[in-house]
Amino acid sequence: MKNYQEILNSQKEFFDSNATKDISFRKQQLKKFQAVLKSNEALLYDAIYKDFKKSEFETYATELGLLFEELKHHIKKVKTWSEKKNVKGNMANFLGSSYIMPEPLGNVLVIGAWNYPYLLSLQPVISALAAGNTVIVKPSELAPQTSAVMAKIINENFPQYYFQVWEGGVKETTEILKLRFDKIFYTGSSLVGKIVMKAAAEHLCPVILELGGKSPAIVTKSASIKMTAKRIVWAKFLNGGQTCVAPDYILVDKSVKSKLVEEIKKQVRKIHGEHPQNSEAYVRIINKRHFDRLVSLLDKKKTIFGGETDEKDLYIAPTLMDNITWEDKVMQEEIFGPILPIMEYENLEEAINQVKAQEKPLALYLFTNKRSTSKRVFNDLSFGGGGLNECIMHLTNSELPFGGVGNSGMGNYHGENGFKAFSHQKSIMQKTNWFEPFVKYAPYSGFKFWLLKKLM
Ligand code: NAD
Repeated sequence: MKNYQEILNSQKEFFDSNATKDISFRKQQLKKFQAVLKSNEALLYDAIYKDFKKSEFETYATELGLLFEELKHHIKKVKTWSEKKNVKGNMANFLGSSYIMPEPLGNVLVIGAWNYPYLLSLQPVISALAAGNTVIVKPSELAPQTSAVMAKIINENFPQYYFQVWEGGVKETTEILKLRFDKIFYTGSSLVGKIVMKAAAEHLCPVILELGGKSPAIVTKSASIKMTAKRIVWAKFLNGGQTCVAPDYILVDKSVKSKLVEEIKKQVRKIHGEHPQNSEAYVRIINKRHFDRLVSLLDKKKTIFGGETDEKDLYIAPTLMDNITWEDKVMQEEIFGPILPIMEYENLEEAINQVKAQEKPLALYLFTNKRSTSKRVFNDLSFGGGGLNECIMHLTNSELPFGGVGNSGMGNYHGENGFKAFSHQKSIMQKTNWFEPFVKYAPYSGFKFWLLKKLM
């Protein structure tokens, strides 16, 4: 095992030198990061294909392209985001001025997940570096090729006292979590999220937890069914269903269910053909453990489309399961694979109550053309983020904070929110030396008390 403490000490020393406080240094490092990713694009595509047959197109659309956009945005905005901001004063500080100075937190640890291995490990890094921190990234060992390529290209191009990748599984991560960081950013399951938070608590280290959950797609009778089916199919079967914000299940108004199901089948055939196993755009399950887990969720009697599996190829066909209830095994955990259960409801109230009875999801998607319905659902239900007549795309807009709530996580990032996630907002009150209100000081009197009440 590496000498983690020694490397972290060198990062502490580097941070204490104030080198990362310089905005031009940060910009330079972000540009370098951009160049490193660009010049190694071929290696990155090759590694992710080996891990789970993810195509170049999809890797660019859902990982590298988003990283490049985020890098561009941060390079452009880092100066503005770092500037001190004057805020309004208050009476008690008459003739004073108040401002907020964003400052880097220090040494950051990012623990990534395997399902979008580049995006989820490196997007938080962009914000952490822009905010002036040093960074250690621990990618997921479940995607070993992508983990190795990130370690190679980053460790060869950045000094270990500033930005490093540490590879490893549970054993290594457990050791790493004993160290004292200034912020830990974790993406993965809620179960491990609790382990991370407990370890961080030892050092009172703040955490951002990007977790998961069962994200519903609610389809009402006023929805545009064709477009709804198209968008749900894209979002659900993208990355083989291994997307934290994928619609986990459909809750559909009984009166439009059969039409929706037919459109979903048509749409799957249209994009992946009659044999999705031969489709270049269809991603495999990450490993045998997850393959077995997913297969155990399949109920042949309830499968109305797909259901084929091939263990050697870690392939599970895009699958629809109907007449599902909360008692079915597939509804007991986050699916995180290409299985789409369909549940029906009689009225909206019932649908809302069903979702309310579950943990707060990371995402919620509502398909309706009625404003009163969207107003009600978005008012009544709590979830990380989501879409009206759309799935997943909310995470591509860096103006929208991305993160969960309750069991689906805490804290958020993307764009300026990412910068803020890795900054401390330092508050400063500045005073003149020629005026000081006598009312502050004892001995107190009736008059001072009267004046105090007027001032405050
Ligand atoms: P994973 O197995 O890759 O684990 C994530 C990270 O946790 C890895 O780096 C791993 O090494 C580490 N880890 C695992 N066990 C650990 C332990 N006992 N102690 C310390 N570290 C440990 O990913 P996963 O958990 O299978 O990811 C799937 C989950 O993540 C799903 O619930 C999904 O919804 C969620 N997810 C959330 C987001 C988001 O942005 N909110 C994104 C992707 C995935």
